[in-house]
Amino acid sequence: MTVRTRFAPSPTGFLHVGGARTALFSWLHARKHGGQFVLRIEDTDLERSTAESVNAILEGMTWLGLEYDEGPFYQTERFDRYKEVIGELLASRQAYKCYCSRERLDALREEQMATKQKPRYDGHCRPGATPPTPDAPFVVRLRNPLEGEVVVEDQIRGRVVFRNEELDDLILARSDGSPTYNLSVVVDDADMKITHVIRGEDHLNNTPRQINILRAMGVEPPLYAHVPMIHGDDGAKLSKRHGAVSVMEYRDQGYMPEALLNYLARLGWSHGDQEIFSVDEMIQLFDIAEVNKSASCFNTSKLDWLNQQYLMNSDPAHVARYLSVHLGRLGIDPAPAPDLVDVVMAQRERAHTLVELAEISAFYYRDFDSFNEKAAAKALKAAAVEPLTHMKQALAALPDWSRERIHAAMEQVVAELGVGFGKVGMPLRVAVTGGAPSPDLDLTLWLVGREACLRRIDKALDYIGQHAS
Ligand code: GLU
Repeated sequence: MTVRTRFAPSPTGFLHVGGARTALFSWLHARKHGGQFVLRIEDTDLERSTAESVNAILEGMTWLGLEYDEGPFYQTERFDRYKEVIGELLASRQAYKCYCSRERLDALREEQMATKQKPRYDGHCRPGATPPTPDAPFVVRLRNPLEGEVVVEDQIRGRVVFRNEELDDLILARSDGSPTYNLSVVVDDADMKITHVIRGEDHLNNTPRQINILRAMGVEPPLYAHVPMIHGDDGAKLSKRHGAVSVMEYRDQGYMPEALLNYLARLGWSHGDQEIFSVDEMIQLFDIAEVNKSASCFNTSKLDWLNQQYLMNSDPAHVARYLSVHLGRLGIDPAPAPDLVDVVMAQRERAHTLVELAEISAFYYRDFDSFNEKAAAKALKAAAVEPLTHMKQALAALPDWSRERIHAAMEQVVAELGVGFGKVGMPLRVAVTGGAPSPDLDLTLWLVGREACLRRIDKALDYIGQHAS
């Protein structure tokens, strides 16, 4: 049997981290078993579904690399099929027309509440009702079994048992003929030959109802796995107030998609104490049965740590492609020089995110407006004038601009002045970088380029002239 999973978002907002993790688990399960992953857009709630949200979901999935094999299928394009199934269920007497008026149902509900019973439909029209008028409106209800149990062998939670007497005769079609949520999900899961429904735990209560609809249709139910919720670090359900919840916000904040994927995979699933998983490893090692039963806590510092690991250990050309986007947001065109891959290699250990990496790398591409005050107060003092002036001359005189030559020039000035390396290196670093975190000086200067170095040393000398007493 080919494994077929699906991700079935309702397009009422962006792709949030909880949805992305559910999608990832479904995707991993399909990939691991050489199966297919289907994308289905559950857009039957016409008031809340938007095209922007569909785009945002597709964009998030593309960014994360969760490619689907089939779809996107839109439920709004399948109404005829749902109607067909409703007709079949009526014909086979697995469903019936219910003409109960709103008033009757309200009165029933009030009576049940007053006698402390669970509000539920009493099966009034179940034996077969005659329409009060020829064109009286009706809903279609499932003839739910009255006795017995629905057993869900949940792949994560284990066996969950629901008593049929707890479930009432669910509405399958509203009085305007439109299908209800549970009916359309079930028809789709059956038609799309889904073998494993992996979804959020908030849907667990729908599962016995959906299984009963499937049985009424004569379809063998798929296997189910309900993924626990994600909480913030205070234990409450993850929400905006804990920080970013949208996948694309993480992109904008400078996370690499592979780092976020890795983080989401570890959120509720583990393999020994391994923290870092390539996508191939995730596919190989992931097992839906090993997902935790309890909720997991979103921990931003851990995500930061993981992202840094990815910044440090990925192919620098790959990191450079992402970094150029963030430099662009700072108005920097990294094309002229230096080579972005060299900058990534030089700076990547100093940042947790691509946004930070872009900020601390901006000085390679453009002159800074002002020196970091603290760094300048320490390094750009009267005593720095002589070393900086000597360095400027030595750098200007170099026959070619290489790390070796730059290093030799610094040693030469240190020897000429008979001072420690720091007396030359410290002001030089602040002069050229403005005070940004930077690697070895010869590398830093080499990347910044000769012209910019000389210009910035002049600027530092001016600064000292204005500030040093
Ligand atoms: N459309 C539902 C949601 O976004 C998911 C339904 C399902 O996975 O069965 O919560």
